[in-house]
Amino acid sequence: MSSFQYAKPASIEQVTSFLAKVNKKAFLLAGGTDLLAEIKEGIIEPDVVVDLKAIPNLSYIKKERDGVAIGALTTVAELAENPIVLQDYRVLHEAARVVASPQLRNMGTVGGNLCQRPRCWYYRDGQVLCTKKGGTKCYAEKGRNKYHAILGGGICYAVYPSDLAPALIALEAKAVIASPQGERTVPLAEFYTPPLVNVRKENILSGQEVLKEVCIPPAKRGDKSVYMKFTERGAWDFAVVSVAAKGTISGGTIEDIRIVCGGVAPMPWRLRKAEDLIKGRRASDTLIRQAAKAALADAKPLEENGYKVDLLETVLVRTVASLIKA
Ligand SMILES: Cc1cc2nc3c(=O)[nH]c(=O)nc-3n(C[C@H](O)[C@H](O)[C@H](O)COP(=O)(O)OP(=O)(O)OC[C@H]3O[C@@H](n4cnc5c(N)ncnc54)[C@H](O)[C@@H]3O)c2cc1C
Repeated sequence: MSSFQYAKPASIEQVTSFLAKVNKKAFLLAGGTDLLAEIKEGIIEPDVVVDLKAIPNLSYIKKERDGVAIGALTTVAELAENPIVLQDYRVLHEAARVVASPQLRNMGTVGGNLCQRPRCWYYRDGQVLCTKKGGTKCYAEKGRNKYHAILGGGICYAVYPSDLAPALIALEAKAVIASPQGERTVPLAEFYTPPLVNVRKENILSGQEVLKEVCIPPAKRGDKSVYMKFTERGAWDFAVVSVAAKGTISGGTIEDIRIVCGGVAPMPWRLRKAEDLIKGRRASDTLIRQAAKAALADAKPLEENGYKVDLLETVLVRTVASLIKA
């Protein structure tokens, strides 16, 4: 591990102006559960690590007129235990409580979870120069690819590992991004970018920007939401497949629905075809299965991960069925 400079700014403004001035490879540090592993394993070599933890008032879950605001330094454990989240945003509560282990939920932050790097074993191997690290080849495409993408792959088949991201996108959350020029707000769905846009990163943040907060619109009467995660091990594991769904159901009819998957694509993946087929119709097992099949017709599994197509179909059917009963 190479040595690096350590900076501990005291405000978001100090962070962004430091990032704008520093002419070196700078990386942001929150809980450190992902970043420190990347440094130790030689995947990244920072010149400067910018610690966000000295910034006061960046850890909060606040109910406001236009919804709920969650500060970037809020821990995943605080999110999982929060009564507003439990009451109004069930999908987020369910996603937060299945992130990693209690220790990691205590250290890991919402901002860090949403900006964490993929877990692809080629990317995480310091000896392998894959496309994500500036190389010319995705070794998963023809190599070992049991856990890789079935949707949206191409020049990189690493899947996006966050449990919070699909849940927040299903809830139509927005990301508040701070930069030296001020703040901008984007739908969290547009915060993530596919490998074809920039294979080296997974989100739209420039080197001078910080994720400051996520905001969720107020829950409406009749809103229901559910998160289901399939893991290979019973505990402390990333999603092989996950599905977050939010919907409004009235008298057995699904009036509105948003479905977002995790673990199957390089970014959280919205299943719009399934949503369109389900919306406005009476819920039935046959309808949901037809919608799942239609949504997955575009899936392009690799040699070892064809099972993910069937698995996603099953988890999707169970998630929507559970949403109807919720
Ligand atoms: C064994 C293990 C199991 C895990 N299992 C799961 C799981 O099941 N589900 C799941 O969702 N996650 C899982 N994780 C990932 C874990 O949730 C993340 O490591 C954690 O949430 C990251 O938060 P952090 O605050 O520690 O981020 P850090 O490690 O400090 O940062 C992570 C990344 O985000 C960037 N970053 C941090 N904060 C900001 C910000 N405010 N603005 C811009 N960039 C920022 C950092 O520069 C870095 O690149 C697991 C991790 C481990 C080690």
